[in-house]
Amino acid sequence: MALKKISFRDSVERMFTHAASLMELSPGLEQKIRVCNSTYTVRFGVRLRGQIHTFTGYRSVHSEHMEPVKGGIRYSLDVNQDEVEALAALMTYKCALVEVPFGGSKGGLRIDPRAWNEDELERITRRFTYELSRRNLISPSQNVPAPDMGTGEREMAWMADAYKRLHPDDINAKACVTGKPRTAGGIDGRVEATGRGVQFALREFFRHDDVMKRAGLSGTLAGKRVVVQGLGNVGYHAAQFLSAEDRALITCVIERDGVIRNPLGINIDALRGHIRATGGVKGFVGGDFSEDGLRALEDECDILVPAAIESVIDEDNAARINCKLIIEAANGPVTADADAILREKGIVIIPDMYANAGGVTVSYFEWVKNLSQISLGRLERRYEEARARMLVEELERLSADTGLNWTLSRGFKEAFLTGADELELVRSGLDDTMRESFKKMKEVWMNNPKVDDMRTAAYVVAIRRISNVYNSLGL
Ligand code: GLU
Repeated sequence: MALKKISFRDSVERMFTHAASLMELSPGLEQKIRVCNSTYTVRFGVRLRGQIHTFTGYRSVHSEHMEPVKGGIRYSLDVNQDEVEALAALMTYKCALVEVPFGGSKGGLRIDPRAWNEDELERITRRFTYELSRRNLISPSQNVPAPDMGTGEREMAWMADAYKRLHPDDINAKACVTGKPRTAGGIDGRVEATGRGVQFALREFFRHDDVMKRAGLSGTLAGKRVVVQGLGNVGYHAAQFLSAEDRALITCVIERDGVIRNPLGINIDALRGHIRATGGVKGFVGGDFSEDGLRALEDECDILVPAAIESVIDEDNAARINCKLIIEAANGPVTADADAILREKGIVIIPDMYANAGGVTVSYFEWVKNLSQISLGRLERRYEEARARMLVEELERLSADTGLNWTLSRGFKEAFLTGADELELVRSGLDDTMRESFKKMKEVWMNNPKVDDMRTAAYVVAIRRISNVYNSLGL
């Protein structure tokens, strides 16, 4: 008889428990942190296409040690309570690890977003928002949703608008949800944020010889062979930035309908264009197509980037994974059973709660922007420019006066004289977050002989921070 596979939530709990067992937590605290505080299930009807359709939605609040609680809303037919609770727990640990001041939450609606047109989706989303709002499960001060699989800027704009209509006197209404379009109070750089965070995480990894050595890697990202699973928002941006800016070779992209391979590197923008035009990767001329997508996870490469869904690497395929480094761009792509097998094989894993924290980090910047009612850099940008100009003019005067006749290169002058705009500030804040969090994880990983992987290190950092909050609250 086949053994039942470990559920996503059990997987997260097992990883948590392992890390907690290495720490000295006050009695009962481990349990308090681990359990999910509440999960609300709602079933609501919407009249569409001449009949009432009933939808099931969830919003799970894992930990309220900090408020608001934060986490995306997923639209998928696979959404269920176990999954939403696992994802909410990951949000708690993720926020703690990268020091964004939120508790963890997650939501989901069991729906196939492709089965409905835009107008229908809008009605469903607005109705779902109403149900969440009635229970304070969407609120700038208590619970702030964001995009996740199957949702994006469009859904967030509908939610923000629906919330505003229900709470016209709330001056902070815009901050009820993040990941909105710029025109509805969003922030530059939020769409790319998770993929950008994956790139920043890898860049930081490649700055540390000692951690690279543990994975059997050396050198830089240039020329490294990368396999990417899922060319959605996260996978696309990660693959695009890694290939275009760091000169990594994306040798394989796995999608719903199959896989494209090209040992010389796939043109990611062209592939995305093809997917948009045809609905899949089949027929793409920039590489070889084959149907067995999941097998391609086992392709030999340097870096494997699972950027699709949870539990794609489990005890069945873990032993055949043939890379040096896995960066978990998706939430929970490696099960607890697989994790042990991969560790045995010497494969290093950059864990989800760190690797994909770029999204919630930039969500935090967006939330702050909404509360402060001003875009980032608006006050200081021209001031910075004026000061830079003063410096450049003084240097030019000095060089002329002393007969040195230096000229600053045009490119330098232009870059130096332009004050940072919102996008640059967002990227800078994200880069800083990814670098600092990596250092914290690394410190625990390298200095604690009982901590033998980066995931456990990430949990230790997160649990320590959460327990400090609980201890100071006197619970
Ligand atoms: N859904 C994203 C995640 O899993 C983003 C959450 C957020 O921005 O609140 O991290």
